[in-house]
Amino acid sequence: MPDPLPRSADVVIIGAGQAGLAVAYHLARRGLTVSEDVLVLDRGPGPGGAWQHRWSSLTLGGTHHLHDLPGMSEAGLSFSSAPTDVPARDVVANYYGTYEQRHGIAVLRPVTVTEVTRDGTGYRVMASAGSAVSEVRARVVVSATGTWTRPRIPYVPGRETFAGRQLTTAEFVSADAFAGMRVAVVGGGTSALTFLDEVGDVAAQVLWFTRRPPTFHDEEVELSPERGRVAVAIQDEAARAGRPLPSIVSVTGLPRSALVRRLEASGRLERLPMFAEMTPDGVVTREDVPIPLDAVIWATGFRPEIDHLRPLGVVNDAGGVAVEDGRVRGEDGLFLAGYGPQASTLSSNRAARVTARTISELLASDG
Ligand SMILES: Cc1cc2nc3c(=O)[nH]c(=O)nc-3n(C[C@H](O)[C@H](O)[C@H](O)COP(=O)(O)OP(=O)(O)OC[C@H]3O[C@@H](n4cnc5c(N)ncnc54)[C@H](O)[C@@H]3O)c2cc1C
Repeated sequence: MPDPLPRSADVVIIGAGQAGLAVAYHLARRGLTVSEDVLVLDRGPGPGGAWQHRWSSLTLGGTHHLHDLPGMSEAGLSFSSAPTDVPARDVVANYYGTYEQRHGIAVLRPVTVTEVTRDGTGYRVMASAGSAVSEVRARVVVSATGTWTRPRIPYVPGRETFAGRQLTTAEFVSADAFAGMRVAVVGGGTSALTFLDEVGDVAAQVLWFTRRPPTFHDEEVELSPERGRVAVAIQDEAARAGRPLPSIVSVTGLPRSALVRRLEASGRLERLPMFAEMTPDGVVTREDVPIPLDAVIWATGFRPEIDHLRPLGVVNDAGGVAVEDGRVRGEDGLFLAGYGPQASTLSSNRAARVTARTISELLASDG
């Protein structure tokens, strides 16, 4: 097969998850043509963003609520009426695929972007061998690459010596793999609670470790809009200052959801302080008490996937990027969608409209 040809466009969107698709939709509404003026690139094999890779027992409706993409109702779809008894990964892949077709958002797949460099007043987007396009030159780059392949694991002395199984949220496939095992779940967010619940049903023992004592909001069964707003504001402040983004749960705390109440009733919500070290046999507490384990699940969050932007010098030594209203500071044509304050399906939808408007104005001012 011949090598794919380089392409050029006004706008390149890297990533076809919620954030990238929403920007593509709003650019199309402003008169840009996807496939010509706007190229959407994605590494994944099919539609669905990171959702296509999530474990099969994860469903919508209980703990997980997705906001619809803009214009999704025109495709006759809404997550609010989506089935709650089939894997979310299938529902989201199916809905996003239908959405792409309905709105003519042709996504080039697979294209793995390796680096973005400067090219005159615009950018050059390079892709790995085997991608459907080798490089794209564009005036504007929107990086909407999410976090899924950048799980965060805290430093723990001796971690590499542990002889049991270690995996992150992104590697979790099914609780069945932990039948009869002694398992530690590390992390204070919803994924950790889900693993306590599902793994706890089949494991010989499941223990829960977190760095800080979790904060439960007894009066709430789901994240309140007010707490959501505060979380967005804190993320926004960090993004503007170019600081690494704080973890969401450290900001929001945990509502006393049905899942929390179920864990409490089953006695699995007994949180232990983070262990001090790992050994081949398990972990050792701060009081020097060894706890034998067969597996450790790191549900300790994610970092943004921004390595491809490093050649531009916009990622600082702490791993942060200074971003204001979705635009990288000092780079008029570089946008981060789904980053920081935009890292929920609700906030990324709202932000996509603003990003598309800013991009249209920039292209118009270029003439
Ligand atoms: C377990 C879990 C459950 C969640 N539940 C919810 C929930 O219930 N509600 C909610 O609002 N949010 C939830 N979130 C957060 C959720 O993931 C985001 O809100 C949203 O799905 C992220 O969309 P995104 O477009 O930013 O990223 P993603 O969905 O990750 O999409 C990024 C896309 O970029 C592509 N990509 C990445 N790097 C490259 C590259 N170098 N080159 C080319 N393409 C690339 C990927 O293939 C992917 O398709 C959850 C997160 C996790 C981890």
